[in-house]
Amino acid sequence: MVIPGDGIGPEVVASAKQVLEASGANIEWVEVQAGKSTLEEFGTPLPEHVLDTIREVGVALKGPITTPVGKGFTSVNVAMRKRLNLYANVRPINSRFGTSDKFSDVDMVIFRENTEDVYAGLEQDIAPGVAQCLKIITKEASDRIAIFAFDYAIRNGRKKVQAVHKANIMKKSDGLFLRSCREIASQYPEVEYGEIIVDNCAMQMVIRPQQFDVLVLTNLYGDILSDLGAGLVGGLGLVPGANIGDGMAVFEAAHGSAPDIAGKGVANPLALILSAANMMKYLGEPAIAGSIERAVISILGQKDKLTMDLGGRSGTKEFTKFLIGTMSSIG
Ligand code: NAD
Repeated sequence: MVIPGDGIGPEVVASAKQVLEASGANIEWVEVQAGKSTLEEFGTPLPEHVLDTIREVGVALKGPITTPVGKGFTSVNVAMRKRLNLYANVRPINSRFGTSDKFSDVDMVIFRENTEDVYAGLEQDIAPGVAQCLKIITKEASDRIAIFAFDYAIRNGRKKVQAVHKANIMKKSDGLFLRSCREIASQYPEVEYGEIIVDNCAMQMVIRPQQFDVLVLTNLYGDILSDLGAGLVGGLGLVPGANIGDGMAVFEAAHGSAPDIAGKGVANPLALILSAANMMKYLGEPAIAGSIERAVISILGQKDKLTMDLGGRSGTKEFTKFLIGTMSSIG
């Protein structure tokens, strides 16, 4: 199924669907909308039928959805992940799918816990001028994201998993997360385990990102460091993502609805196209994913053919056409 989303969502979703169709993927699309547009029609940005359809179909390709800043409705993205228990947010940061001149050998995967932390939505004004936000960390959620990261490491021949934390300050909450990671790590002796404090991790990612392999983080740190990671390989227009739960998955780019460029026809659809390729792997179609990925890699060096965020001159539609042409010529 597909959720076009807000802002640049419908533009990049249309592009990814075209690429999938051209790749030979046999997909019957069920389209439902969520976000700003459904607020008027259904009185909520996340109608129940959207969640029911995801449960029924099991796999979705989703455009970004806008969340008002400092007021208005709470995040549809966060609510969807929590309601469907899509506990693992997976964001691969890979120079092969990047355009950076600085780093050509970054290859890390970020596993961000997707259902709790300060995203639990537990905030209140406790006195004039004093607001409180609760950070919720549970053993259950910490264990399952750590297991997910280690299982991925084993399946994909990854050597090292590092837990990213601030347990020197948040001894209870991040301390619990860290204890979970340590306990799970002890069950995977074939994978090296390490720990790194989040601020140091941010600095190390900027100066020597090649050292990182698999990172497992709580929700907020994962959100911030995955955007940092996107910056290392060329920008938010390039980094795919997936929200995975038990028997259900929603594939979406790491970027948001980019209201500053929405409707201008200039959005870079690559992050969603790569998310769609990962969706095909999840669906047991690695050959289709491979043909999309090979075409992407082969055009990334042709700067003028890329979208403007990557220094090129193409709009979304032109770029999509070029990518499809490349895919059919290289097979
Ligand atoms: P953003 O990712 O939308 O944009 C940040 C910057 O990157 C902007 O300058 C934007 O133009 C650029 N950018 C992002 N994607 C791009 C693309 N595909 N091509 C070219 N340029 C691109 O982040 P933001 O501005 O902080 O957030 C905007 C809205 O998106 C907010 O309402 C936020 O809550 C929402 N958001 C949604 C999701 C999601 O749906 N999963 C994720 C992040 C942010």
